[in-house]
Amino acid sequence: MSEVKFYYGEEVPLEMHKVRIVQKINLKPVERRLEAIEEAGFNTFLLKNDDIFMDMLTDSGVNAMSDKQQAAMLEADDSYAGSTTFTKLDNKVREIFKKEFFLPMHQGRACENIISQVFVQPGTIVPMNYHFTTTKAHIVINGGTVEEIFTDEALKITSEHPFKGNMDIDKLNALIEEHGREKISFVRVEAGTNLIGGQPFALENLEEVRQVCDKYDLMLVLDASLLADNLYFIKQREEKCKEMSIKEITGAISDLCDIVYFSARKLGCARGGGVCTNNKEAYLKMRELVPLYEGFLTYGGMSVREMEALTIGLEETMEENMINQGPQFIAYMTDELVKKGVPVVTPAGGLGCHLNAMEFLDHLPQTKYPAGALAAALYLVSGVRGMERGTLSEQREEDGSETLAHMELLRLAMPRRVYTLSQVKYAVDRIAWLYENRDLIGGLTYVEEPKVLRFFFGRLEANSNWPEQLAAKFREDFGESL
Ligand SMILES: *Cc1c(COP(=O)(O)O)cnc(C)c1O
Repeated sequence: MSEVKFYYGEEVPLEMHKVRIVQKINLKPVERRLEAIEEAGFNTFLLKNDDIFMDMLTDSGVNAMSDKQQAAMLEADDSYAGSTTFTKLDNKVREIFKKEFFLPMHQGRACENIISQVFVQPGTIVPMNYHFTTTKAHIVINGGTVEEIFTDEALKITSEHPFKGNMDIDKLNALIEEHGREKISFVRVEAGTNLIGGQPFALENLEEVRQVCDKYDLMLVLDASLLADNLYFIKQREEKCKEMSIKEITGAISDLCDIVYFSARKLGCARGGGVCTNNKEAYLKMRELVPLYEGFLTYGGMSVREMEALTIGLEETMEENMINQGPQFIAYMTDELVKKGVPVVTPAGGLGCHLNAMEFLDHLPQTKYPAGALAAALYLVSGVRGMERGTLSEQREEDGSETLAHMELLRLAMPRRVYTLSQVKYAVDRIAWLYENRDLIGGLTYVEEPKVLRFFFGRLEANSNWPEQLAAKFREDFGESL
């Protein structure tokens, strides 16, 4: 697992950093956790951090910064135009992605807003390996549609395929032939596909996608928000890349793409984002919108301090020892859960560990929100907060019926370099206990249901007194323990 072998055979990932600033977290008794999840309307988004032990809701903007990133933030050059801080970031982006033009933006979705406004026309299609929520929203609001061209492996919960994020080249060709080249805005590939378990694409697959784009003279756009994990998997799993450095792989990926954009809330462990390209015409069109939505061209809505941190963060992302921490911890957690028979998405990807709620709670129909119920139950028995990714997050049909999700997942994100191995072991222990007691978990029903993005603010109630019974069973088995 790690490059470092343990002499007595134990296979655990080894942290290649030490912790020098800590933040206290609280593990409250199960009685308080029961109150807290009731107060939050059984919606983990509405829990207060004070009541949370391990926050595995997301990896966005919550990754640990290095000492060098923190130090860089102290000497930021705060000027509206022409800031030296921006020049440093601009140079770093050009060095890593080998693109001439860089536009700073305040986060990933801001890049998607501007790219979509410029390149998506009403009635056009954007083929992609898989959508991300904000990406799709921006394409749709500009009158376009999203077509997902994933391979048959992509949606399989258990698989051994090393690159479930690949595009299906035959389907891509067929789609373009069917609709005609004029109907396609551009082709988009997402590194480390967020919504299907942080699964990577292979460099070889990207080369094939590029050939299709060349054949039809189409632009290839890369969403590099989760690139760090994807780089690690390419280095580990793709034979021809074994001898390449992370920086060489990054360059090879970027070379194949016309536009590269990213959320720096993930890539580079800071907060911000940006778009880069060699295409001057595309650059000039996008540039017009930056002062309108983001700010002047030398900050784009980011604070100078974050830009300093991002410059260092991008440089550090080129080290395998840095980007391997997340995927190795996720693989450890996933493997331990598999050993205990808990249903999870395999192979382990980047971003987080995903529990398969459809199987975990196979006694609950999708209309009772198994993934949402599992999220609430796991918080109750452990103080660990995850994010529901299933029917609860979908929007109802016009006639009020439920849209049933492809998968019912509880995503446990692994913020990079934040949690220790013993904390991960604690989470595994509580999940395994919960799996043994899964029959106690019941369903949920909305009591306050917003029309749009209901999962953010919606409130639910338990269908019976199952939360009380689960808390009572916890006390029985754990005694006085937290
Ligand atoms: C998070 C994310 C985005 C959006 O980035 P924000 O900074 O949250 O706006 C876009 N694409 C992918 C793949 C992401 O993971």
